[in-house]
Formats: sequence, structure tokens, C-alpha cells
Amino acid sequence: MLDIHKIRTDFPILSQKVNGKPLVYFDNGATSQKPQVVIDAISNYYKDINANIHRGVHTLSQLATDAYEASRNTIQNHINAKFSHEVIFTSGTTHGINLVANGFASILKPGDEVLVSAIEHHSNIVPWQMLCEKTGAVLKVIPMNEKGELILSEFDKLLSEKTKFVTVNHISNALGTINPIKYIIDKAHEFDAAILIDGAQAVSHLKPNVQELDCDFYAFSGHKMFGPTGTGILYGKEAWLNKLPPYQGGGEMIKEVSFEKTTYAELPHKFEAGTPNIADGIALGAAVDYINAIGIANIQEQEKELLEYGTKRLLEIEGLKIFGTAEAKTSVISFNIEGIHPYDIGTIVDKLGIAVRTGHHCAQPIMNFFQIPGTIRASFAFYNTKEEIDVMVEAVKRAKLMLS
Ligand SMILES: *Cc1c(COP(=O)(O)O)cnc(C)c1O
Repeated sequence: MLDIHKIRTDFPILSQKVNGKPLVYFDNGATSQKPQVVIDAISNYYKDINANIHRGVHTLSQLATDAYEASRNTIQNHINAKFSHEVIFTSGTTHGINLVANGFASILKPGDEVLVSAIEHHSNIVPWQMLCEKTGAVLKVIPMNEKGELILSEFDKLLSEKTKFVTVNHISNALGTINPIKYIIDKAHEFDAAILIDGAQAVSHLKPNVQELDCDFYAFSGHKMFGPTGTGILYGKEAWLNKLPPYQGGGEMIKEVSFEKTTYAELPHKFEAGTPNIADGIALGAAVDYINAIGIANIQEQEKELLEYGTKRLLEIEGLKIFGTAEAKTSVISFNIEGIHPYDIGTIVDKLGIAVRTGHHCAQPIMNFFQIPGTIRASFAFYNTKEEIDVMVEAVKRAKLMLS
């Protein structure tokens, strides 16, 4: 078992008081907190080796380049990509998804079909709608059931030779559902469709193995896995990345430029135009090392306990309903209390030092499905404790009394 109280000292922010109360941070689904090693990686870069990468022959430039590329290798190993050049640094999941959607504008034809699921974040809906508008392709939606699980028999029926692209998230940010992505990937491939997995929520809870999954693309953000904001990774299979056109033009992504013709750099640089976010990219590698030092199995064990305990305690509250009750679920609890607006509860518990998310969680179609304006979402990380859950439950009870 993890020594949670010791682990919490790795995260300076967790010992803070908010509104005079000890901070209870249950908004990990929106962004996770950062351990000192990640914070240090950022400041050490600026203190010791700040220089632009891939360009200079001078020593600092080489040190910075080595550190940045070492981070890429760390991430490659973490997700088990075959080649380091299949690991593209981005500014986040949204950037990665748009890069792929933009690339498919030159591949899709009118009448082709793109499948997304009913359980997606807006980041994994809107770029595909834009792609369909541009190309005349048709967007189809894999439906979900009342528990917040995708209905696989309906997915099977939607697949046809018209299906050119499929995309689903690995874990839903709004409901916590863990989707059966291996099944979905294999089925998509039976129809020769390419598939992207939105791993934004998954990377803090599990360790995706992209070769075993056999997905064509896997996108995620650094800030949701204890790394810095403004970082992310797009994994893509080499063959697909070679096939897609560059997303942005600029420095770094070219081989040769003349006014007649420009040729593009090899992977991964073809997709990394301009000076990247060097310090934070290096710190993302530190975050991955930190996760592995804690151990994914330990993280999962702790989070499973928090999910079970939090679910049980919250359901003691009369009139409380949990949205997202999938069999396979991660440590996210989305709930409402009958007759009370989620925003009002969020505001009151904040006064008591508790950070939860309220609203539609960038997943309005899910809220429409349940016919609710939004939910209160408590999303736990391994550094959270049962005592913090007790504090939240008491606060929610108090808010309920005040509001009803
Ligand atoms: C957070 C999130 C995104 C978007 O991530 P950004 O870091 O904002 O780019 C996409 N999909 C899911 C499931 C998310 O949770």
C-alpha cells in the first residue's frame, strides 16, 4: 500500500488552506496537481540549460536538445510506442486531435463516415464536425445506455465500408466510464477504418500500451497526468504520420525551403513547427517518471478504494443521484441532488475549501442525454484520502440543508 501522507508532501499545493480550510482537491479530472520534481524540472531547465533546441552547435543547445529528446524517449517507453518519432509533442489533447482531423481533410471524400461516441468531450466532437463540414463526410454517433456505457451492438451496426474514421475516449471525463477500446479498435480495423483514442483522462489512471491496443492515434495532455499545462502527446503509427500532411508550417518542420518548393522534415519534426514548449516538455518526462516510481498498480488500488468509499458515502445522502454507473469505471463521481442546482452546491463547498467541478464538463451531449443542466463532479487522484471524502460528504450535506 502507498503511504499517502508521505506522497502528499510531494505536492506542495496540497498543504494549502483555501478560504481558511485545508484544501480538498477533487478536480483532478480538470487538471491534476504537480509534484515538486515536475516543478523543479521546469525551473532547473531555465536555471541551467535554457537554449533553443535542434539548431545550435553550442553546448547549452545540445544539453537542452538531449533533455527534450530524453523526455520523448521516456514517453515512448511509457506508452510502448515502437519508435520515438511516433511520439509528437503537442500543446495538449485538443491540439493532437485537431492535427489528425486536419490531416484527414485531404483523405476523406463526400459520403465517407466518421464515427464518434455519445460520451465524448467537446474536444473530440467539434474537430470531427469541422472535418465533416469541410469534406462532405457524415458524422455518426455511437450511442450510450443509462449507465453511461457505449452500446457495442449499435456500434457494430454503424460500421460499414463507408466508415473511414472512428474515435472514442479511453475514459469519459464526465462519467468516468472506461470504454472497451480494444474491442472498438479491432472492429474499426476489420472495416479498414483508422481510429484515434482520446486518452486525456486515461493517462493518470492507467498505462496505455499503444502497440498492444493497435490504435492508429492516441492523444493526451500532460497537465492531467501531473505534468505541466501546455504539453501533450500525439502518438501516431509511423505509416499514418507519414501519410498525413503537416498541420502547421514554419521553422523546425522543414527539410529545405525555397520560394518554388518546400520539402518537409522527417518525423517527428514534420509535426513540430516552431520553437516548442521545451521546459514543460522536459518536465512532462519528469511527470511520467514520477508516475512510474509510484507505480500504476498502486495508483489503481488507491483510486479503486476512493471510488468505492466515495460512492457509498455520497449515496447516504437522500435525493442524491450518481450519473455514470458503468461496470468499468475510474475514480470519478458525477452527481446531483434532487431540486438543487449543481452550481449552488459547488459554490457552498468551495467556501469550505473543497474544489469540485460543476457544470457540463465540456460534454453537453451527455447532459442532454440525462436531461440535466450539469452535475457536480468529484474526481479523485491517488493523493486523495478517505478523510477528504468525509469532509466533502459533510459539506454536501450542509449545502443541501442550506439550499432546500
Ligand atoms: C481534458 C480533456 C480533453 C481536452 O484536453 P485539453 O488538455 O484541454 O486539450 C479532451 N478529452 C477529454 C476526455 C478530456 O478529459
